[in-house]
Amino acid sequence: MDVESVGAEVGQRGRGRGRAAWIAGVAALAVVAGGATYVVTGRDETPKATAGTGATPTATASSTSADIIAEEKLLAGIDATLKGRAAALVAGRLPQFLAFTDPKNAKLVQSDKQLFANLQQLGLKQLSYVRVPTFSPEQRTKLGPGARALRIRMLVQLEGIDQAPRVTQIGYAFAQRGGRWVVVDNDDAEAANRGDSREPWELGPIEVARGRGVLVVSSPGEAKNGRRLVREAEAAIPAVRAATKRAQAGILVVAMAARRSWDSSAITGGHPAGAVAIPNMSPANADASEFKVTGSRVVINPTYRKTSDRFLLAHEFTHAAMAPLGFGAPIWLVEGYAEYVERHLLERSNYSNWVGSQRRDLRKKAIKSLVVLPIDGVFHGDYDEDSYGVAWLIVEYLANKYGVATVNALYAETAAQADDPALRDKSLSKHLKLTETALVAALKKYTGPS
Ligand SMILES: [Zn+2]
Repeated sequence: MDVESVGAEVGQRGRGRGRAAWIAGVAALAVVAGGATYVVTGRDETPKATAGTGATPTATASSTSADIIAEEKLLAGIDATLKGRAAALVAGRLPQFLAFTDPKNAKLVQSDKQLFANLQQLGLKQLSYVRVPTFSPEQRTKLGPGARALRIRMLVQLEGIDQAPRVTQIGYAFAQRGGRWVVVDNDDAEAANRGDSREPWELGPIEVARGRGVLVVSSPGEAKNGRRLVREAEAAIPAVRAATKRAQAGILVVAMAARRSWDSSAITGGHPAGAVAIPNMSPANADASEFKVTGSRVVINPTYRKTSDRFLLAHEFTHAAMAPLGFGAPIWLVEGYAEYVERHLLERSNYSNWVGSQRRDLRKKAIKSLVVLPIDGVFHGDYDEDSYGVAWLIVEYLANKYGVATVNALYAETAAQADDPALRDKSLSKHLKLTETALVAALKKYTGPS
């Protein structure tokens, strides 16, 4: 994981904002492979050994054929419920959706009504639920006799925003009511195994603001801030597209007051991150066991939702644009490129004096003492402001000397390969005709764009 701190940025340009951040991979889906496809590891997916615990009827060697048939029947019933629920959401039929919710639980019915309304408001192109086949149903006796919790992959594609269905791992508990399996808990955290943060549609009422290629979700009463962020995003997108020659057709920005819209583990150098760009993982095969990055969403730290601006979004959207290329690029290139796009936009927005003073300060101190390029393991920490600055100057130097197209080619090649110093050296000499030592030496002589 790769996140950025609030750091000294706050106040320097007279704005309270946080650092942008980038998360490689998705917490709920352990990513094991480099390159374009990611395989879900067995860490949380291993069928639980239930023999002897008596907790769950599972098709183990000791199970009788009656147990096996009973479990198959149970799973078939739950699958039918999931299918009915998904179909109702896509068709926009509330009564059909609520037919799969425990009618005796008023709180749950209210929560599911809100979930339904939120997803309608966001606009669904596709939605489906895929039960994680290796997760054995777990008993939830406190929810009634025979209640079972399951781990489910919810695949959501928002109309006009997501290029493919994006996976979220959730937990549902089911019980039988009148011959069918209904949801008795729509957030079984233990089965979901997904940390504390939640999808924006799971957090009560929402406000939605749309713009060209952007959809901002905010909290009730904050529609004005949502519209402000749409305008900021619309100003950031062209800057990102001009540099990267890549951009998502649409991007979701979450800017809610709710603490649980934010993953509080996004911390660096002791500071919470200001925002994160989180890759959208989409199934790469039919049983949704392999994933590829098809885009990203941006989640803003609730603390900074009202002060985040086009510059922060330009940084984030750069991460989003580059994420589908893979996660192998060195951190100085990943962060340096996002900083480059952000600061380039600052220069063209009447902040060129500020950018110039940043460049001079870095040359006086951090660049002078630079021996090697900032490496992944030490990028963050006490000196992460300098790490970002140094990374920015490296990329700015490369963009000016070789052109942005060469930076893009270097990025694409290193992103797709394994995290290996020897491969990176090879890419440096191929694209820049430089060794790392020569690049550091050239950087020390760099005074700024000519
Ligand atoms: Zn970043």
